[in-house]
Amino acid sequence: MSAILFDRIDEPGLNDIAVYEKRGGYEALKKALTVPTAGIIEELKASGLRGRGGAGFPLGTKASFIPTADIDKYLVCNADESEPGTFKDRELMQKNPHLLIEGMIIAAYAVGANRSFIYIRGEYELQANILEEAIAQAKASGYIGENILGSGFSLDLVLHRGAGAYICGEETGLLDSLEGKRGNPRLKPPFPANQGLFQGPTLINNVETLATIPPILRMGGSEYAKLGVENSAGTKLVSISGNVQRPGNYEIELGMSSRDIIYGLAGGPDEGRTVKFWFPGGSSSPVLTADDLDLAYDFDTLAKAGTMLGSGAIIVVDDTNSVVDVALTLASFYKHESCGKCTPCREGTTWTVKMLQRIQDGEATPMDLDIISSVQEQIIGNCLCVLGDAMAMPVSSLVTKFRAEFEEHIEAARERNGLGMTPPPASEEPALSL
Ligand code: SF4
Repeated sequence: MSAILFDRIDEPGLNDIAVYEKRGGYEALKKALTVPTAGIIEELKASGLRGRGGAGFPLGTKASFIPTADIDKYLVCNADESEPGTFKDRELMQKNPHLLIEGMIIAAYAVGANRSFIYIRGEYELQANILEEAIAQAKASGYIGENILGSGFSLDLVLHRGAGAYICGEETGLLDSLEGKRGNPRLKPPFPANQGLFQGPTLINNVETLATIPPILRMGGSEYAKLGVENSAGTKLVSISGNVQRPGNYEIELGMSSRDIIYGLAGGPDEGRTVKFWFPGGSSSPVLTADDLDLAYDFDTLAKAGTMLGSGAIIVVDDTNSVVDVALTLASFYKHESCGKCTPCREGTTWTVKMLQRIQDGEATPMDLDIISSVQEQIIGNCLCVLGDAMAMPVSSLVTKFRAEFEEHIEAARERNGLGMTPPPASEEPALSL
């Protein structure tokens, strides 16, 4: 498979518009502006492209939800990329910013949006500076502004820097933040397609999704759909981190074997170590174990295995790591990032961290594991946004799949503290309720 998004990504000067144009950049936009907007949306539908930010919703379908009425509409690019283990959009924006900008102009044209924003996480200062320069070049070349290339279509594009909060990667929290408010998630419905930024219809997608639009238009939606596997068309940027010898970003064709990604591309764990478990779609995805390495890496296969492709970030944990350390680190992150708006997430993340800390400190009994599992069950599906689930799903999977190790840890830590093992009375039920 030849690369699509990472095609000659390390070409010197690619972030300059002259180099980008020399290799065919902005040709897809020129072509798009001659096609009726409905035709672009049909092309996106035909490609089968599913959103690459986490939810995996088909882009063409989402774009078709935007009302066609002649009212103020918006296009927003989610460049917050805060999910631990995910760093692919960063490389894309840094090395090929015009690919994203071209994709955004085409998407805005397709849905009739005349105002667009890139919301980039505050920590991505280098990438923000590069994008600012690239936007200025695109404006100077007539690709952004009034009456683009004489088409009658006008678009403004603004880069907005976030202040650094995981929750501003959640689309409605992002929109609130963009409006100058605290980044709190909103109740859905209404969905952004109907009532998004400043109450106007808004198409919001992440960097990788929007950057895939120019290649789709160049090759044709149906050709793009031939890549990958059924229901998971195309290529995917995968960030691989953790205990592998060659961490980094790789572009794969969806449906590739997970073993080929982790061992073939990333080199697997160091000599003499083995994969203990791995997160297939960022830290919020339920973990898989070494037994799952032969699963195909695509949306449906991972969903059937009880997890998700998410943002496409694979985090590998080898046999030298403690499952308790990983669970505590992960839960602490989500507790810190919870906006506190709804009770199951605010209280559930706090309790989970406290209980995992008790295990770590040698003050827990095996009954605490049942309580932890019960708390996760009460969080999942009961929160206003996905952050609560983002902690509960992986923690729950760790406790379920590695319960014996948790119990050993509890026993060893209690012995170190001179407490010995004190099993709970048989009648004692883990009866916490959120
Ligand atoms: Fe806030 Fe967590 Fe509720 Fe999301 S799930 S709204 S982050 S408290």
